[in-house]
Amino acid sequence: SLSERLESAFKQIKGEGRITELNIAATVKDIRRALIDADVNFKIAKEFTDTVKEKALGQKVLTAVSPGQLMVKVVKDELASLMGGVESELNAKGSPAIILVAGLQGSGKTTFSGKLANYLKGRKGLSPLLVADDIYRPAAIEQLKVLGSQIGVDVYSEPENKDAVEIARNAIKEARSKNKNVVIIDTAGRLAIDEAMMKEVAAIKGAVNPGEILFVVDSMTGQDAVNTAKAFNDRLDFTGVVLTKLDGDTRGGAALSIKYTVNKPIKFISSGEKMDTLDVFYPDRMAQRILGMGDITTLVEKAQEQFDEAEAKKLEKKIRKNQFDFEDFKQQLEQIKKMGNLKDLMGMIPGVGKAMKDIDISDDAFKGIEAIINSMTPFERNNPDVIDQSRRRRLAKGCGKDIGEINAFLKQFEQMKQMMKMMHKMPGVASRPKARH
Ligand code: GDP
Ligand code: MG
Repeated sequence: SLSERLESAFKQIKGEGRITELNIAATVKDIRRALIDADVNFKIAKEFTDTVKEKALGQKVLTAVSPGQLMVKVVKDELASLMGGVESELNAKGSPAIILVAGLQGSGKTTFSGKLANYLKGRKGLSPLLVADDIYRPAAIEQLKVLGSQIGVDVYSEPENKDAVEIARNAIKEARSKNKNVVIIDTAGRLAIDEAMMKEVAAIKGAVNPGEILFVVDSMTGQDAVNTAKAFNDRLDFTGVVLTKLDGDTRGGAALSIKYTVNKPIKFISSGEKMDTLDVFYPDRMAQRILGMGDITTLVEKAQEQFDEAEAKKLEKKIRKNQFDFEDFKQQLEQIKKMGNLKDLMGMIPGVGKAMKDIDISDDAFKGIEAIINSMTPFERNNPDVIDQSRRRRLAKGCGKDIGEINAFLKQFEQMKQMMKMMHKMPGVASRPKARH
């Protein structure tokens, strides 16, 4: 993957005591190759690495940081800037606000439309109306209706009407009469760019004048993603990009090239089929993720959504004082289960993502752990240190595991405690202000 390749590009320079033109050149060459292999366009990769080289050389006066750290920092900043620098807000103005969703068939438009409605309803307190404007496949209307009922959002459709423009217009009237303040129009797509499809979306655009036109693209399509983006942008002059299927085996090749090619911001990333797996796109976090630094900030934010502030403070203090115990652990597991897909969450922890790639983690992966904790007495849960050999034997019997499994678990728990303590010392993690939404 791109992350692994970049990591190995940095390996050499990490061992160097000094940053020199020579070792920068070697690292930069590896980085360029890694980018190209990850479907980043050659020209973009070259320009990118030229800038990195220049910036890295310009900073050689800094002796406080190691060459490796410096390079990682320079590359991270450049990656973030390539992807747009700062996050871009969704334009939800207008009464109703109109959002047109376009893209190829199978890119994830319908799924995204549902997720966006869910996001705007839950996070922004808006009242959305979904419009099934894919008139070619009856199943498409049904699909959106199913999603709508899952998230409790109304879906407007006219199964007999074969004019997508008229349906869009009618939907907006319906929204006004029902006091909906945002209309999300899910359109039809084709397997490849074709004139009839382009004409149709362009006509819808002309008729309803959307404040936001989101181009949805499957991030697994690599170089093609860029070409498609270009074709859609030439025709629609869209306002933002949505990258879907980031849960697949992609590490951002498309994310890196699209902003550069069409100069439109990436607004959302979508990574799963569940309705709550939509995230605002933050270039800096994506850069960290590509560099295998993990997406700690997203993780923290997800956690913040679930955690009670006071509880979180208490917990942080316990972690810092190394007093995190099994009772806390159990509560955390409960919270994590509420946050969503376990594998996605773990993937955001630095260093864990890669290791987890091939492991099949189901949401009941915690069962074994919970069984062990459940067989502890309250005293043991609050005092992990007291669990000696004889207590371990009793625990093993209590939860039907062998003593080796108990030992392994207790050891892992200790390691986790250490890691958590370390993470809380990292700048920007524990002290990060609450996220804006
Ligand atoms: P559309 O043709 O553009 O409307 O695409 P759909 O929304 O129907 O999605 C096509 C397929 O991709 C469906 O099977 C979706 O469940 C799946 N899909 C959509 N978004 C994601 C995503 O972010 N991750 C994954 N893994 N699958 C997705
Ligand atoms: Mg669809």
